[in-house]
Amino acid sequence: MIERIAIVGAGESGTGAAILAKAKGYDVFVSDQGQIKDKYKAELTAAGIPFEEGTHTEDQILLASLVIKSPGIPDKAEIVKKIKGAGISIIDEIEFACRYIDGKIIGITGTNGKTTTTLLTYHLLKSAGHKVALAGNVGFSLARQVTTEKFEWYVLEMSSYQLDGTCDFSPAIGVLLNITPDHLDRYEYTMQKYVDSKFQLIQNMKTPNHFIYYTDDVVISTELKKREIAPKQVAVSLQRDKAAPAYYDGSVMRFDLGEHFSIAQEDTTLKGPHNLINTMAAVSAAYLAGVSVAAIRAGLKTFKNAPHRLEPVATIKGVDFVNDSKATNVDSVVYALGSYDKPLVWIAGGVDKGNDYGQIEDAVRQKVRALICLGKDNEKLKKAFGDVVPVVRETQSVPELVKMALQEAKPGDVVLLSPACASFDLFRNYEDRGDQFRKAVLDLKKEVEG
Ligand code: ADP
Repeated sequence: MIERIAIVGAGESGTGAAILAKAKGYDVFVSDQGQIKDKYKAELTAAGIPFEEGTHTEDQILLASLVIKSPGIPDKAEIVKKIKGAGISIIDEIEFACRYIDGKIIGITGTNGKTTTTLLTYHLLKSAGHKVALAGNVGFSLARQVTTEKFEWYVLEMSSYQLDGTCDFSPAIGVLLNITPDHLDRYEYTMQKYVDSKFQLIQNMKTPNHFIYYTDDVVISTELKKREIAPKQVAVSLQRDKAAPAYYDGSVMRFDLGEHFSIAQEDTTLKGPHNLINTMAAVSAAYLAGVSVAAIRAGLKTFKNAPHRLEPVATIKGVDFVNDSKATNVDSVVYALGSYDKPLVWIAGGVDKGNDYGQIEDAVRQKVRALICLGKDNEKLKKAFGDVVPVVRETQSVPELVKMALQEAKPGDVVLLSPACASFDLFRNYEDRGDQFRKAVLDLKKEVEG
């Protein structure tokens, strides 16, 4: 009899796992307690995979000898308890996909900067001519990529949820960017549990695997002192006195990875101190994966980051408009403000997440010429910055917003949408906010320049 695999959760990872399992000859059944997106239903139907939505039919699921669950489903979910209670093995999509991988994995995690670093690493390998796949959180599940064709490298963005579900997973190169409190609700509000989750990245790694990490991060460096680290360590630092193999000396990024070389941030397409860290991590990973320094330099010049992250939109009358709609918390705005030496017209506001603006007050005082509040309720922002910034204005209309911003700016300034808040008061999500901003800027450019 053909062995049955049940898939619980039919998002990108569940659907990818189902397609891989089917391709490997299993009898596959997919179950999702919520609604399955149309595009995934179409794929499952096309592959001849039976599925259900809106419920979990236990009889069907418990017939399986192996269950693959989506990383979003926590261990305490009722269905997971039932599966475990029935003595059935349960693993996550990444663990399942790894059983069929020939190539090597670069696994990238951290609280912030995962997508940027993953896309950059992928780009550096790809533009150097390597056969490389992009996978994980960034879009396509690893299982899906494993099904399509054979790759030499898989660059895999991993959330802590995905790391939680790993046991034998072992990347050839692991990257850990930073650890700051996030998603703690999933970790019983215990920071150490979240830290342990992130360190699952290296649980099976050993020399000659490489572990690239940001050593200035206090949580990471404290944890490293407590553990025995088996893979070769490659520290990344923004300080020259840390003796790290990749560090920023105040003017250029310096690398000592067997070969010595240096790269200036002006020779990359990414701005800001946070992107020095991301760039040093990606460059180290690419170099250790076999990309030449010349190819790395060329790749850094042609990289285009995902939208909404300090994305340059257009220049109107000498004023640069920048879309950083992904900056939904104050931490991100710290980096955004630190990325420009020019005077700023700062656009902020939306749904407040308990923001403490104290940490950016000095930077705002020094750099911001005018603040434009884009939200339904701007009281908190006005209270925090009313006496700090010379001009504070408000609007709920995006076309009006960009006109106001241009009025307030002088040639050479930067208009920066970096909201520090969630977007749900006026927009569907941060992408919608960024898209509307980009469109309004481009419309205004046409209007002004004809
Ligand atoms: P993630 O995929 O982890 O959410 P992104 O690359 O999408 O990360 O970046 C999201 C936001 O996080 C960026 O807009 C930036 O403000 C901030 N960020 C990016 N890289 C870092 C970093 N290395 N350290 C701290 N913050 C960062």
